[in-house]
Amino acid sequence: MASSNQKVTPARVFGFLLSHWRRQPTVAIAISTLMAAATVADVATPVFAGRLVDAVGNPSRAVANHAAMAALLWLAGLGLAAVLARQAAFWGIVRFTLRMMTEIKQEAFARVQGFSTAWHGESFSGAVTRQVLRGAGAVDMLNDVIFFGLLPTTVMLLGATAVLGWRWPTLGAAIAIGNLVYVGVTVLLALYWIEPAAELSNAWDTRVSAGLADAITCNATVRAFGAEAREEARLGRVLAKWRRRTRRTWMRGVTTFSFQSTMLVALQLLIAGTAILLWQQNRAGAGDVATVLSLYFVLHGYLRNVGQHVRETQRGIADMHELVGLSASDFSIHDRPAAPSLHIHRGRIEVRDLVFRYGAHSTNLFDGLSLAIDGGERAGLVGPSGSGKSTFVRLIQRLHDVQGGQILIDGQNIAGVTQHSLRSQIAIVPQEPTLFHRTLAENIAYGRPDATLHDIEHAARLARAHDFIARQPKGYATQVGERGVKLSGGERQRVAIARAFLADRPILILDEATSSLDSESEAAIAEAASCLMQGRTCLVIAHRLSTVRAMDRILVFREGEIVEEGSHTALVARPGGLYRDLFERQALGLANAA
Ligand code: ADP
Repeated sequence: MASSNQKVTPARVFGFLLSHWRRQPTVAIAISTLMAAATVADVATPVFAGRLVDAVGNPSRAVANHAAMAALLWLAGLGLAAVLARQAAFWGIVRFTLRMMTEIKQEAFARVQGFSTAWHGESFSGAVTRQVLRGAGAVDMLNDVIFFGLLPTTVMLLGATAVLGWRWPTLGAAIAIGNLVYVGVTVLLALYWIEPAAELSNAWDTRVSAGLADAITCNATVRAFGAEAREEARLGRVLAKWRRRTRRTWMRGVTTFSFQSTMLVALQLLIAGTAILLWQQNRAGAGDVATVLSLYFVLHGYLRNVGQHVRETQRGIADMHELVGLSASDFSIHDRPAAPSLHIHRGRIEVRDLVFRYGAHSTNLFDGLSLAIDGGERAGLVGPSGSGKSTFVRLIQRLHDVQGGQILIDGQNIAGVTQHSLRSQIAIVPQEPTLFHRTLAENIAYGRPDATLHDIEHAARLARAHDFIARQPKGYATQVGERGVKLSGGERQRVAIARAFLADRPILILDEATSSLDSESEAAIAEAASCLMQGRTCLVIAHRLSTVRAMDRILVFREGEIVEEGSHTALVARPGGLYRDLFERQALGLANAA
């Protein structure tokens, strides 16, 4: 799977959390201390409840009054202190968690942006987005469960055992053993009985969403084939399975709850019984029995949630898995240490003995390819689909590292210069330009964000895009629909050409659209493109006759080799040549050749 190249264990997840906690040590310690203090106040409360009972039982009215008031004051003070401490801890954790989530999202984004094209090619953008967001959400859940669940529960269990064990060691031992059994059984049930079932039902949950998304995305196809009923039946089958799996999980939850409640009743009887025994032996009075019972009720509240805390911790860890994997992985192409910038004066591209294959492939796509493209030359790349044209232009941008040979631009090996300096001198007009969901002006100015509206308009005019932009409701301020869907293919390409005009870079890579355009768009694009090519070194993956004719030289690719080269006229004149064959088979040019 492309999302991680490191094994992620729960320990790594905790390590990741800890590394983020360490960035805010004071807040982390303050939250822990406040929550521990609030819990200690909870542990102490029953002691004063016991004193109150003792006080009202005192035969002297004056002494009783005085002691009762003192106990009441203590109860009030402890209650108030617990409320204040928790409130402060809540304030702290809001700030603490939000800062962590912000940093985690920001850093994950920066990492993912830096990952190689190969990684991005293998990963679904939706899935990566979900991994990051789900992981950041899990941080919120884990912070809450650790600081407000597990930490106070531990303090409570230790505190209750200490308070009782200090006066009556037998009772302390009984409560300690009772707690251990309860927590142990709850944890085991949560991890080994509920969780496996929950994992399965979650998997079906995911399938339900995936099924829904798939059918809704492909709605046009569903409708075209009148397959609505078929799709509903399909979803029905998935839902039926989801319901069976989810029912099992929920029923296990219900059974566990009943089992826990039974254990808690047993624990209550054990504690109350021991207290009565101590009373019978004259080792405990009415106040003591009140203390023991109230302490049990406080403890009960904490114990009830142990199972939930365990499950939330586990789910949080699972949800953070992929995020931690992303953070620990490195799929980037690295600049060499102290790499210089690329300086272009002529724009001559030279390829020497190039060897390249895609990661998983066993044979080389390019095996010793050599060629040179002069500064300012317009080179057309043609050849059957899969012959390596797109890969070739990707290698020029160093989107993949090569296994052998060199690519030189004005004598500088592109592997030795910074990637930023290389790519910022190459303008690209892709086959299917993707536009940001921003305004047309922002999209055109993407390569030069400081461009004025005047510059943007000038570039759009050169790209023959001004007229259709002027017809948009808000002109250059019109928001492009998501991924540019509101524009036609030809219009998107002209926006991309305008972008390249404005970026004004010495090297141009143009990948012609294969999809058929109306003749008006086609003529406008051809005009704009030939204007854009002037004065730059151009690599054009060409599909149209009008384009190839305008090239200085045509390079014909086949299976990673250049089998023919020359001008259009020279190549069509060559009997039995691949170019001539391609040309003849596509009487109207090379529209479908690649
Ligand atoms: P063209 O642009 O001429 O159609 P490509 O450069 O896209 O050819 O593809 C050349 C070969 O490399 C094809 O066999 C293709 O399947 C393979 N290929 C292209 N991209 C990848 C990739 N990201 N991973 C693995 N193989 C790829």
